[in-house]
Amino acid sequence: MSDRDLAPPGAIAMRSELSRGRVHPEPRHPLRSEFQRDRDRIIYCTAFRRLMHKTQVMTAQGSDHHRTRMTHTLEVTEIARTIARCLGLNEDLTEAIALSHDLGHPPFGHAGEGALDECLAGVGGFEHNEHALRLVDFLEHPYPDFHGLNLTWEVREAMAWHSSRDKSPTIQELRSAGYPLLEARVADAADSLAYVCHDLDDAVEAKLIQLDDVAGLSLVRRASSLLPPGRVLSEDDRRSLLVRTLVDMLVRDLVDHTRRQLDAEGIHDLASVRSHPGPLVEQGHGMREEKRELAEFLRRHVYYHRRVLEMSERGAALVRSLMQAFLKEPQALPPRYRSRLGVDPAARIVGDYVAGMTDRFAEEEHDRLGLKTP
Ligand code: MG
Repeated sequence: MSDRDLAPPGAIAMRSELSRGRVHPEPRHPLRSEFQRDRDRIIYCTAFRRLMHKTQVMTAQGSDHHRTRMTHTLEVTEIARTIARCLGLNEDLTEAIALSHDLGHPPFGHAGEGALDECLAGVGGFEHNEHALRLVDFLEHPYPDFHGLNLTWEVREAMAWHSSRDKSPTIQELRSAGYPLLEARVADAADSLAYVCHDLDDAVEAKLIQLDDVAGLSLVRRASSLLPPGRVLSEDDRRSLLVRTLVDMLVRDLVDHTRRQLDAEGIHDLASVRSHPGPLVEQGHGMREEKRELAEFLRRHVYYHRRVLEMSERGAALVRSLMQAFLKEPQALPPRYRSRLGVDPAARIVGDYVAGMTDRFAEEEHDRLGLKTP
């Protein structure tokens, strides 16, 4: 791809001067756009730093090489920026949305999320996107005058579109501007593309599966046909070359197909983006099916692998016992959480505290409190 293929931000890009702004108005910054400021606020927040010790698929046992939520987030962000640049979208906004896309994940991935949702059933449950909004709107506290990071509407809107809690008044309000901006749709597509490729990479590295197990899948066959023929490579080299090729192939297909879709659907300005309910940013039909086949393989052979299930069950049990322990003794919470007792339901306060923990801190707290979990 040459420089000529990289479109400058065009009429379909969101522009920061068109932003619906922040809940607490702030003067403009002389050097950075509103979305650049959002990006920086996200990178400097505590929840972002904690992604370093949160599970993506596998917990830190056994290997230091696999991805964490932090490295996954950075990979998604760079893929999303590449796509945004090719499509002439707002890179700063895309970056801010991608950096924030997993902020609300509790310890131990989806297992931790499921356990928290059960424990918080009486106060409306737990869902990581809704929690990400609570984090950026309320729980983070870098400013003395208000709660939260005071992000722009557009970054918060992207979180709301991701959430399954469509009855929540906050989420409904944030969805009222029309269908999602292309920058949000790009971050979403980059996430999905990144995790199928990288979960495959990590699963082979962790020996949950072997490279040969996926050799028959159409997407892998297609990527393998692009590798240098006749070259003898070590298993590790073959894996990383294959994964790189997969990512590259999917990104090119996504950009090509999306360009065609935007043309075919007559999407030439922001108003037409806002009124278009279809996905717009997606793989072409062929690769969409092939990617689905790989995702299904991963579901059956990686996410439901005995070792992954054991880690998940242990993580969920740990979250449940931490919830119980702090509910029994809420005075043991740190002062910032304790000060909300009597104002918010105790379950929500404890849930906010436990959801913020990293895998590592949850393990340490569990040991410190002498809790018994299988
Ligand atoms: Mg993600």
